Amino acid sequence: MSASPSPVVPARRPLVLGLARSGLAAARLLRRQGAEVLGCDRRRAEEAAEWARALDELGVRAEWGRDDPELLEGRDLLVVSPGVPAGHPLVRAARESGVPALSELEVGFRAARAPLLAVTGTNGKSTTADLAGALARAGGREVEVCGNIGRALCEVAEQVPPEGLLVVEVSSFQLELVERFRPWAAAWLNLTPDHLDRHPTLEEYGGIKQRLFAHQGPGDYAVWNADDPEVMKRRGGGAAWLHFSARSRPQEGAFAAEGALHLAWRGRWEPLMPAGELRLRGPHNRMNALAALALTLPLELPRDALRRALRTYAGLEHRLESCGRVGGVEFVNDSKATNVGSLEVALASFERPVVLIAGGRDKGQDFAPLAPRLRGRARHVVLIGEGALAMSKAWERSGVPIERAHTLADAVQRAFQAAQPAGTVLLSPGCASFDMFRDYEDRGRRFKAEVRKLGEGVRA
Ligand code: ADP
Repeated sequence: MSASPSPVVPARRPLVLGLARSGLAAARLLRRQGAEVLGCDRRRAEEAAEWARALDELGVRAEWGRDDPELLEGRDLLVVSPGVPAGHPLVRAARESGVPALSELEVGFRAARAPLLAVTGTNGKSTTADLAGALARAGGREVEVCGNIGRALCEVAEQVPPEGLLVVEVSSFQLELVERFRPWAAAWLNLTPDHLDRHPTLEEYGGIKQRLFAHQGPGDYAVWNADDPEVMKRRGGGAAWLHFSARSRPQEGAFAAEGALHLAWRGRWEPLMPAGELRLRGPHNRMNALAALALTLPLELPRDALRRALRTYAGLEHRLESCGRVGGVEFVNDSKATNVGSLEVALASFERPVVLIAGGRDKGQDFAPLAPRLRGRARHVVLIGEGALAMSKAWERSGVPIERAHTLADAVQRAFQAAQPAGTVLLSPGCASFDMFRDYEDRGRRFKAEVRKLGEGVRA
């Protein structure tokens, strides 16, 4: 084993806390750098067979079923996976004993050769990061989109050449343990109370997001949502500022006005395309598109390429995803909508009232404020799961017919009937999925399978 510290992080004997996708990627990167890596995870090896095997193959020793401070013995760095809270006892112990603790994001940043575009915010990060990647790719750049979406930064940091780009979706969890992280361009989409289980106040949650911009300097770009006062009052750092807005015309950035998307760059306003040509649905996605445009503006991508990408980019799976037609009825999978806010955003994305399938694990949310919005936006509601009772009580005065279904298959059937002959069925649960499904992806995929079955039944 090499005795010299890794050129990426000043460590010979790092401990990686959390051994799933990101932790494994960090371990692999550090191992390649010649470090003697130890991994640990509170899960037992049997619960994480896939990861245990991968670490074995890598020659990384792993302690399963353990995440106690004793593991720090003889270690000169703690690398923390995004899923682990910064208040974890091992992180505290590292601080107390003077061992540096860094997030996987920071390690990936230090190994990266290409410039980083970063996206943070409460909502819309994945979509915006993915779309920014699509814009840059359409403009001929080699791009990897990473972070919370699929791959970890550590997985791709070394692969992308200096003339390529790394687009990173950054959650506040990962920003808790950064030191020098400096994206070339970074966007802050919005800030609403969420994850307050982990960040006790909006002030603290916002403060952590500000760290994304803290090390930026001349030659870097910071992109702010001009329509979100919580973001605007937290602007800072040493980068040049761009803004995006659906309500005003920023000096530099991107905006929507008079039914079109516009760019504002180097003192000039230029119309790009009619907003209606955007393939993504809904006002929230228009904001995401504006954010992605502002974030990629400094790349000076060909305008034709931008238009082409915006007209064709269909969005990510489980987020207002069109998943087929049966007869004249369209089905839309929005299984990612796990809270009331997302459900509201989804309802605002359709021109005509939809047949809504909602419900799931009730996290104690207040569904009543949505009742007035249902009217005019939903023509019929089918409820599933544990939240069904609370939702039907909260919405009974909306005047929209509500029925309950016991299974997803039953819900799809009932919604299909209610949407005849040419309506839209929207699955946007507004609740977590764990009462009936493994996760929101499982819920979305099973919904799509039911839609396929329905189609086959109708054709047969
Ligand atoms: P994230 O990665 O931040 O979770 P996604 O792109 O996966 O964001 O979108 C998750 C959900 O957040 C969507 O299903 C939608 O309901 C909502 N959403 C997306 N973009 C926005 C936005 N700009 N403003 C408010 N809500 C949004």
